[in-house]
Amino acid sequence: MAKRNEFLPYGQQSISDDDIAAVLETLQSPFLTTGPKIKEFENAVANYVGVNYAVAFSNGTAALHGACFAAGIEKGDEVITTPITFAASANCVRYMDGTVVFADIDKKTYNIDPLEIQKKITSNTKAIIPVDFTGQPVDMDEIMTIAQQHSLVVIEDAAHALGADYKDRKVGATAHMTMFSFHPVKPITTAEGGMIVTNDKTYYDKLLSFRSHGITHTPYSEEQGAWYYEMIELGYNYRMTDIQAALGLSQMAKLDKFIEKRRELANLYTMELKENQLVHPPMQNKNALSGWHLYSIQLDLDKLGKTRRMVFDEMRASNIGVHVHYIPVYWHPYYEKLGYKKGICPIAENWYEHALTLPLFPKMTAKDIKDVVQYFKKE
Ligand SMILES: *Cc1c(COP(=O)(O)O)cnc(C)c1O
Repeated sequence: MAKRNEFLPYGQQSISDDDIAAVLETLQSPFLTTGPKIKEFENAVANYVGVNYAVAFSNGTAALHGACFAAGIEKGDEVITTPITFAASANCVRYMDGTVVFADIDKKTYNIDPLEIQKKITSNTKAIIPVDFTGQPVDMDEIMTIAQQHSLVVIEDAAHALGADYKDRKVGATAHMTMFSFHPVKPITTAEGGMIVTNDKTYYDKLLSFRSHGITHTPYSEEQGAWYYEMIELGYNYRMTDIQAALGLSQMAKLDKFIEKRRELANLYTMELKENQLVHPPMQNKNALSGWHLYSIQLDLDKLGKTRRMVFDEMRASNIGVHVHYIPVYWHPYYEKLGYKKGICPIAENWYEHALTLPLFPKMTAKDIKDVVQYFKKE
């Protein structure tokens, strides 16, 4: 296979002059953090998604921690999530001393299977954290129905899915709380950053407090002066800076263009690969439009006559930055030590063994796509 001159990463941010100008302007303003840009950015995301409230955090993991705090997760509570995700979707439960319960994925969508969620519900179940893996929305209506029947809180991990559509709504408009991440490979970036969107005022207030030490500025009594504040609960410093929010605001204006470009490139991949016997391109749910954070294929290792490791190494040697998302979360030594055993989610584990992520980001060209698929065409 011909080696590309330049390494093609699996994901990359798109930063342009207007983003840089927005950051510079904030650097020269009176507020570097907790200024007007935070609220503007929060409003922009809340309006885009179609919800009442948004709370920006220093990163998506901190935002998930905040959501678990707001949901009141504590020791003894069980929270159900998928094993095919970044570890943070499960770790946020552990921050609250809760117990993570993994439910297997659907063979076709690679997202958590609502039937498997139902099987894992006990009297201790408190919440569900479904993940829109690769940007493909989970079937949230089905999950919300299950949650209502059992009085569970639903925290959607939409780190991959800002800008994706579910039925007639944007992702983020359905769950009790939805998390977005603004890490550079994600749909838009603030370098590091995250956000929770919600329609619930009680969650909103909890999230605001948690983000900043659990401090309230409401005067305790008339006798206290204007300097007075109280720390009510144990919060953290999880604030986003105004510099980051300015970048996020500038990026939000381009989100739809980024998603459109990702959809075009994903279509190109699918056109190139759909007749190919060596790989299975990802399917799309009929009631949703993916944001295409990742293009994740399944390798037919028998037909390829190779291991996944060989395919990965050969493509990397040709400067194609393939990746693997994700190692089942409970295979990690931390979870293994907590007692999770291999075999809990057999569909997810088998899926993982065949998974490969192909490069996909808005700045890619049709030529880049050709360079990638060439590997599967030479046989
Ligand atoms: C990126 C990511 C997170 C964490 O977001 P950070 O902003 O990197 O902390 C959580 N869940 C998923 C599925 C992610 O991809």
